[in-house]
Amino acid sequence: MIEDMLRTPSAVRDAERYTAHNYHPLPVVISSAEGAWLTDVDGRRYLDCLAGYSALNFGHRHPTLVRAAHEQLDRLTLTSRAFIHDQFADFCRELAALCGKDLVLPMNTGAEAVETGIKVARKWGYQVKKVTPGQANIIVADGNFHGRTTTIVSFSTDDDARADFGPYTPGFTVVPYGDLAALEAAIDENTVAVLLEPIQGEQGVVLPPEGYLPGVRRVCTDRNVLFIADEIQSGLGRTGRTFACDHEGVVPDMYLLGKALGGGIVPVSAVAADADVLGVLRPGQHGSTFGGNPLACAVATEVVRLLATGEFQRRSAELGERLRAGLEGLLGSGLVAVRVRGLWAGVDIDPALMTGRQACERLMERGVLAKDTHGSTIRLAPPLVITSDEIDHAVAQVAAVLAG
Ligand SMILES: *Cc1c(COP(=O)(O)O)cnc(C)c1O
Repeated sequence: MIEDMLRTPSAVRDAERYTAHNYHPLPVVISSAEGAWLTDVDGRRYLDCLAGYSALNFGHRHPTLVRAAHEQLDRLTLTSRAFIHDQFADFCRELAALCGKDLVLPMNTGAEAVETGIKVARKWGYQVKKVTPGQANIIVADGNFHGRTTTIVSFSTDDDARADFGPYTPGFTVVPYGDLAALEAAIDENTVAVLLEPIQGEQGVVLPPEGYLPGVRRVCTDRNVLFIADEIQSGLGRTGRTFACDHEGVVPDMYLLGKALGGGIVPVSAVAADADVLGVLRPGQHGSTFGGNPLACAVATEVVRLLATGEFQRRSAELGERLRAGLEGLLGSGLVAVRVRGLWAGVDIDPALMTGRQACERLMERGVLAKDTHGSTIRLAPPLVITSDEIDHAVAQVAAVLAG
């Protein structure tokens, strides 16, 4: 096609013209999608290897989820929590069961789930643990990503995420990720919680050393500290289990969920915990106008039902091994490191070869969309509905890009 006839260049310009530049998207303009495939405004097709940072675990427009959304749109979309609606109880009961917890508290975005976890942990600290008023402290990890609110960026260690957004919220201590001794040493009588990603997604799919998560669990139990697992990106099937914590048999006190919970249709997040923890909240102390709305609950209940069958976790585990084998075959041929858990891979490209951004641009030209993170690392996280042939296709395109 002649360059002048493509719609993409002007569509890219239009998209940049009236928006704050808080993102640096690849120059592709998507107009439709189904399953693991995207189509742009010029009719070109791409294999989605980002899946909305795991928000699209079930693929684009999964028929069961779209049907639930349509049916709910035709009946009831919003009540606020001032009234109870008929989709609420099923969602809360079924999600609590999936998590093995007594209660859930629904919000909308991941950052709100993290904020909710922080508030609940602090209140638990004062009311149950009897921490000195105003002194509650939460331990977090170096390299964390928990969202973009002012409190959350206060304990980010990424300068882009944090610089010039102060004054910063106090009450957080940062320790090296994966270092149990450092974490244990940081706990004092004011520590109410440890907040961690069981796998650090934004950091490049960084897995902690084996035994770390069980160690954190043990230390938290011994010292009467809540273990909060941010499973917003790692949870709900991405790693081949329902939760990334499951790989080491660890049960946190609080799960933070988001992204895939909304089925790629609506923003849905939640905190799941037992009654002795979430029960500290009383009416008026926390809330959200849209949290737990009927449309969100209708879609998210079907998400929970998809996960309850175990089918997606199995697919992710099995296909993840194929992805791992393919990517590990490229070690020494342009890749210097590969980290895989389920259908989630962090791939470090030899920085002498190209940046992660350049790799993603070249993958785009080859019909595969992925996202770089931190220099020469790219992350591959396709929808869990991807087929084994499509995985081979994606790996072949990575190989071709590395071969120049
Ligand atoms: C995406 C993400 C968040 C924030 O979620 P938003 O919906 O973007 O607010 C928090 N924690 C982790 C681990 C994430 O990946």
